[in-house]
Order: sequence, then C-alpha cells, then structure tokens
Amino acid sequence: MTNGEFKWQNDAACSKPENEDIKENFFSAKTEKKYEAKNLCFSCPVRKECMLFALEHKQIWGVWGGRDEMEIRRTLSVDANGEEARRRRYPQCPYCSARTSNLSTEEVPSKSGGRWATTKLVTCGQCGFAWRSRTSANAVDAYFKERATKSARSSKKKRST
Ligand code: SF4
Ligand SMILES: [Zn+2]
Repeated sequence: MTNGEFKWQNDAACSKPENEDIKENFFSAKTEKKYEAKNLCFSCPVRKECMLFALEHKQIWGVWGGRDEMEIRRTLSVDANGEEARRRRYPQCPYCSARTSNLSTEEVPSKSGGRWATTKLVTCGQCGFAWRSRTSANAVDAYFKERATKSARSSKKKRST
C-alpha cells in the first residue's frame, strides 16, 4: 500500500512482475539498457506523475518518466551533485520535448513553505506539463534574457548600417 503522494507507483510499469528482468536497466550506465528502460516508460500509464516526482524531488540518477539522468539534469539545470549549474543547453519540456521557447515561468506559493514562501513553476505551452523548480525556471529565464539581448544587438546593428 502506498500513501497519497506515491499512489501512482502502484501502476508503475517498472514495478510489474513481468518487467522484473529489465528493472536494473533503469540505473544502468549502458546506453542500450537505458533505451530499453526508456521504451517501457513511454508505454507506462503513470509516466507524467513519475516525471513530476523525479523533477520535484531532484532524482538525478537513473531513468524516470522516459528521461535519463543527463536529460533530467539538463531540465533542472543542475550538475551531478544536484547543485545549480548553467548547462551547455537550456531545458526543454521533459514530457513532450518542446523547445525552451515554448516554456514559461512564474512564481507560485510553495507547497511545503511557510506563509510567505514561494517557488518557481515552469510550464510547457505545448503540452501543459508543469513542474516546480527554481533552477529550471532560472535557466528558462536566462534563455529569454539571452534571446532578448541578441535581438536588441541585431536591431542596433541594422540601424547603424
Ligand atoms: S515512467 Fe518509467 S520509471 Fe516511471 S514508473 Fe513508469 S516505467 Fe517506471
Ligand atoms: Zn511539453
């Protein structure tokens, strides 16, 4: 029996007896094994809940919701220690793979925080998937800032030519 927050785990494809033999693939370093694990995720009825859990509880090892640790770290914009780090590539939507330009951020009340606590939410405009993560939101904000700077520079250049 699982409590409310973890109820989705009852329907997890990876915990079904018939998938017992590929369970270890979820934490394998081998690419082909990771692919097998990811394939199972894409047919799992609780993929969305699993991915949300992984992002909001910073699960940065193994395959969750069809994404491996490198993809999860990129989404969260953290390093292998879970610390905020500007990665080479900005986050995409981990659920539908929409580009960063489809993501938006906002401040929302924190689930666990006190009266005045807030956290940052990232939402995908393409599929509607949303996750709470300050580091993800910071990276998405940085993407839009960089885009705005580039476009200001190019219009300045055009004016001066
Ligand atoms: S999405 Fe993948 S890791 Fe998550 S519960 Fe389903 S099979 Fe397991
Ligand atoms: Zn999406």
